Amino acid sequence: MRNIPSNFIKVKCQNCGNESTIFQRASTTITCGVCEAIMVEPAGGKARLVGCSIVEVLESA
Ligand SMILES: [Zn+2]
Repeated sequence: MRNIPSNFIKVKCQNCGNESTIFQRASTTITCGVCEAIMVEPAGGKARLVGCSIVEVLESA
């Protein structure tokens, strides 16, 4: 599995400030675990951030 880049990003909910780590190519809608606001929507294989901002891009170790 080491040849597959892990494009995880840490995002922050713009509604409540909760931080979550998500997969950048999410294929489903992701909601905030705290306030349930929609944070990420799938968009052609790459997630579109709607209610959150990127805090950090996590590189694979
Ligand atoms: Zn939230």
